[in-house]
Amino acid sequence: MTIRRLALALLISAAGGAAFAQAPSPRAPTPAAAAPVAASTSTFSTTLALRDRALGDNTAWTILEELTTDIGGRPVGSPAMTRAKDWAIAKMHALGFENVRAEAFAKPSWVRGPESAELNTPYKTKLHVLGLGNSGSGQVTGEVVVFSSLARLKMTSIDLKGKIVLVNQPMTRTQDGSGYGAAGAARFQGPSIAASKGAIGYLTRSISTADVREPHTGSTNWGPGVKPIPAGALGVPDADLLERLSKRPGGKLPTITLSLLSSVDEKATAWNVVGDLRGSERPNEMIVIGGHLDSWDPGQGAIDDGAGVAITAAVGKLIGDLPTHPKRTIRVVMFGSEETGGSSAAYLAAHKEEVPRIILTGESDTGGDEIYDLRLPPGFANDPRFLPVADALASLKVFMSSADVGEAGSDVAGLQEAGVPAFGLSQDASRYFDLHHSASDTLDKVDPAKLAQNVAAWITLIHFVADSDIDFRKPAQK
Ligand SMILES: [Zn+2]
Repeated sequence: MTIRRLALALLISAAGGAAFAQAPSPRAPTPAAAAPVAASTSTFSTTLALRDRALGDNTAWTILEELTTDIGGRPVGSPAMTRAKDWAIAKMHALGFENVRAEAFAKPSWVRGPESAELNTPYKTKLHVLGLGNSGSGQVTGEVVVFSSLARLKMTSIDLKGKIVLVNQPMTRTQDGSGYGAAGAARFQGPSIAASKGAIGYLTRSISTADVREPHTGSTNWGPGVKPIPAGALGVPDADLLERLSKRPGGKLPTITLSLLSSVDEKATAWNVVGDLRGSERPNEMIVIGGHLDSWDPGQGAIDDGAGVAITAAVGKLIGDLPTHPKRTIRVVMFGSEETGGSSAAYLAAHKEEVPRIILTGESDTGGDEIYDLRLPPGFANDPRFLPVADALASLKVFMSSADVGEAGSDVAGLQEAGVPAFGLSQDASRYFDLHHSASDTLDKVDPAKLAQNVAAWITLIHFVADSDIDFRKPAQK
């Protein structure tokens, strides 16, 4: 933040927010470390100065670089997750958070063992597989029955006893990531449905928008009374190969050997790591934001969700550097078990009595690409009090959406269900599912300038709300 920029920000604020087109572009080359934002005469000029500082600041990038380089992939229950927890506590102290602690909770953890898949007939070749989280453990050999969609599997009258099921349902690329819900059911529900119909093994085409052979893992769930079977994700071209082979004249199905070994550590522990910036006037009123520290094991957990941890921690650090904290408390949480579930419920259980005084909550968990819209709780998108925020975000190419926020993030879903108002800053997910849960979820896939745009958008909203009296439980007058 240069003096000239601060002066510009103050000028823009004085002009009533009409001149934001002249604000620095998020793509402009920026210094590696900007000077702290000085005290200013009005709250919103401080918000604008923070936005501009965030665009030129590398705090989020530094956090992400450390997490992916020094810790790596962080599945729940692993030694890496324990190191990540220790790193997170030290990092939050170093960033200036108060009241830093790790809140432990019991979380049985699924542990990947040796895995392989091989086509046996009509010829031998290696297939690219990754076991799904919560997969059953074992080695099975059998014919592969291919379904083009989960709906086809659900409705089939084919006898699946002794068979290995493959659901080869493609995923659609979308900006808002909505293709994931539809395609993902083949992973979330497919194994349990196949097992309940007698299948001995299950494969899903990777829930992925890429065309590479590298498989994408993720967790699955078993229905009541269903005995888990080995369940994995195949590289997209491998799934297509099995489908083509299964359609050859003569009706001979391909056979494979699927070996997915794993174990469950019933006594594992997970942690939500929490740090606060205490509000200067109404510390009991709180905003809770965060990302999740755990990740899948094949990659480095950079886009999922090191980026979200880095973005929200950087928001806290930059606001914490102000000479005076905003009126309300800002809490940043590095959630400890998103991928196989648990951190949302654990956070709610530990903080139930705070629910009525949590003003707003949100999670960053769709990578590090640019934010394109802000979704506020119902009734607030057109609230005139948010016009300065809308203007400030417009210069970041973020628009105010009146669309429903939906689920604001799986780690804050518990708070949301308990009645806490939630927001969403939607990230461009066009590329996210090329990488998600695969070995290619690595640091190089994150663009530092886009990460800074995320921090700038988050800090604009969070600082504004933290220094306001807005009550999201009372929808604005129409
Ligand atoms: Zn995630």
